[in-house]
Amino acid sequence: MRIENGTVLLLWPLELHTLTQGMYSSKGVWHGAIDMRCTWDGTTEQPVYAAEAGTVNWVQTWDGKSTAGNQSYGNGVKIRHADYNGQTLETRYAHLSSYVVKNGQAVEEGQLIGYTGNTGKSSGAHLHFEVILGGVRRNPLVWLDGDFTTAWNTVYTYGPGEGPVEQKKEETNMTFTSDTLKIGPVSTGDRKTMTEYAGRLGAAVRDEGDYLVAGPMSEKVRDAMAAKARKLSLGCADYMASAQADLSPVMDKLSELEEGMAEVLTAQRSMADQMVQLLDKLAAAGNALE
Ligand SMILES: [Zn+2]
Repeated sequence: MRIENGTVLLLWPLELHTLTQGMYSSKGVWHGAIDMRCTWDGTTEQPVYAAEAGTVNWVQTWDGKSTAGNQSYGNGVKIRHADYNGQTLETRYAHLSSYVVKNGQAVEEGQLIGYTGNTGKSSGAHLHFEVILGGVRRNPLVWLDGDFTTAWNTVYTYGPGEGPVEQKKEETNMTFTSDTLKIGPVSTGDRKTMTEYAGRLGAAVRDEGDYLVAGPMSEKVRDAMAAKARKLSLGCADYMASAQADLSPVMDKLSELEEGMAEVLTAQRSMADQMVQLLDKLAAAGNALE
C-alpha cells in the first residue's frame, strides 16, 4: 500500500509477526531477508499473504533435494509491485509447503498466495521473506510497520537510521476504530474454530446471535483475528462501526417519524386556530342574539 508522500507500507505476510532472524544473522552474516515463525498453533502450514498488490513474476517448485542456487528457496513465489522511485519493487516468499498462484497472475494486497513450510535450504518450517528494490535485497523491516516481536533478543532488526514505516493515526483508524470485532454470520463449525483461535490468542469472545464479538484485544491480536476470519471467508467488521451501521436504519426511521410528527402538529395547530375562529363567531352570534 502506498501511503502519503509515496512511502510504501507492506502488509505482514503472516498472521503473527515473530522474527527468528533479521537482515543479518546473530553472528553478523548477511541474510538479506527476515525469517518469520510459523509454528504458533500446532501447524507449520500457515497462510501466506501478498504484502502488496502486484503481479506474480516468479514461482518455483522445489525438486525435493537441492539446497543450492535458486532451489535453496524451495517452493517459492515472487511478486512484482508498482515501481518505487523509478526502481522495481518485489517481494519473495520462500520455503513454502505449497503455493496457490501462477506466474503472471495479478494479486491483491492480502491475497492468499501459499502456505509456509520447510522446503529448500531450511532446517525447520518458517517463512523467508525478502524485499527487493532495483534487484537488491533490502531490510524488509523498513517496509513494514513496527508491530512485531523477536523470538529472542539477538535477532537483528534495524540498522542505524532505519525504522518502521510510520503511519498517520487517521490512516490506521480508517480500517478500525475500536479494539472489538464483530465476526460473522458464523456457522457452528466456524464459531468453534474462531472461539478456539481467540482462546489461543487470549482474546475474549461472546456470542451475539449469528455473530461472534471478539475483544477488547490488542491491535496485534485483533489483526490476527481479522486475518483468521478472512481466511474462513467470514464477514469481519469493527464492532462500533457495525453497531453504527445497524443503528442507521433506526435513525432514518426516527427522523421520518419526526417529520410525520411535525406534520401532525402543524395540522393540529391549524385545527385549533379554526376552532378559535369558530368559537369567536359563535360568541359573536350569541352576543347578537342577546
Ligand atoms: Zn531466511
